[in-house]
Amino acid sequence: MIDRDLASEAEATARKLASIAAAGEDGRVNRRLIRGLAEEGLLPRLFPRRAGGSREGEVSAVDLCVVREALGRESTLAENAVAIQTLGAYPIVLGGTPEQAGRYAGPVARGEAVAAFALTEPEAGTDAAALALRADRDGNGYRLTGTKAFISNAPDADVYTLFARTTPDAGAKGITAFVVNGDAKGLSGTSLQLLSAHPIGRLELDGVVVSADQVLGEVDHGFRLAMRTLDLFRPSVGGSVLGMARAALDAAIAHASNRKAFGRPIKEFQAVSHQLAEMATKLEAARALVYAAAEAYDRGDQDIARRSAMAKLFATETAQQVIDVAIQVHGAVALERGHLLEHLYREVRAPRIYEGTSEIQREIIARDLFRR
Ligand SMILES: Cc1cc2nc3c(=O)[nH]c(=O)nc-3n(C[C@H](O)[C@H](O)[C@H](O)COP(=O)(O)OP(=O)(O)OC[C@H]3O[C@@H](n4cnc5c(N)ncnc54)[C@H](O)[C@@H]3O)c2cc1C
Repeated sequence: MIDRDLASEAEATARKLASIAAAGEDGRVNRRLIRGLAEEGLLPRLFPRRAGGSREGEVSAVDLCVVREALGRESTLAENAVAIQTLGAYPIVLGGTPEQAGRYAGPVARGEAVAAFALTEPEAGTDAAALALRADRDGNGYRLTGTKAFISNAPDADVYTLFARTTPDAGAKGITAFVVNGDAKGLSGTSLQLLSAHPIGRLELDGVVVSADQVLGEVDHGFRLAMRTLDLFRPSVGGSVLGMARAALDAAIAHASNRKAFGRPIKEFQAVSHQLAEMATKLEAARALVYAAAEAYDRGDQDIARRSAMAKLFATETAQQVIDVAIQVHGAVALERGHLLEHLYREVRAPRIYEGTSEIQREIIARDLFRR
């Protein structure tokens, strides 16, 4: 069920932290913002008590959507900060031992540590199961060697959930999840300049030593943990872009009511008002898909991979259209640097690529159709 108090709390928190969010340095993690999100209580509400949070129950896809939608509407910077903290730490919460959850996810929930999720490699993006970063046996532990690319919050993060190959030539069945400390010897990284609302970078691992208690879940079962995490997150990517699209639609409605052309407000031209009617309808449909998928995840339904793919696909494609139409309705003014819509137009692009491109979401849906 959608918790309206949680949505209001998230909106109020984003407004309160607006100046801290704006003061962040380009390409660097805004630690003050993350601490603020924790001190205001929002971040801990997304983590169970056993993982340093304040939730009575386990993680909830619906609550994650509620928070991301509310933040997406108010502040994409705060939204991204919450998204990456949870994406980076949830594999520990979902797949780690109680000791690992408390030790590694706890500081993330409290805003004391910055998290990241490291799956993608230069030669393994959509085909994530082709990842090659090696985990070689070293006594009781492992040595990690290889490269990760396009990792949100890298190279500043303190805690990486990192997926590495433990069995060569075994595809998805030879991948293990690890927790890696940001200050580990042999770990280095560089920032990438990308069209994105958050810092992102590349990581080089040169024989990074990890102990057996830094393995998350079972050896060679890490890919499943990565996919479980993405099934949980994909509806919430939809939630975040719904928030952004709603902000764009509201701006377009206000503008169409005030802006005059040919002696009347432009909302009186059907060419304008019907475009907005169409976008509002698609947005409602996207919202229904997003929350249905999140509820299915929380119930533990079997068909979550398909539903979560549908939610992400439809919501991200729709949000891009809504923001584009909102710009069209505004005319040139929306393209001025610093305009809300100019900002949203840049922000809405990456979600159609990360956590699985739109094409791979269609592939997941198609595979499910033909399996049944
Ligand atoms: C802003 C941003 C943040 C990110 N953050 C993270 C992060 O925190 N952690 C992380 O691990 N990764 C992250 N990524 C990486 C992201 O997950 C990958 O970019 C994504 O999975 C796509 O991989 P790729 O870019 O290598 O594209 P490719 O895999 O090279 O794909 C290129 C094109 O081919 C298409 N394609 C490939 N295979 C198929 C197929 N089977 N069927 C149809 N079409 C196909 C794709 O859809 C795409 O259009 C981030 C990316 C961005 C842009």
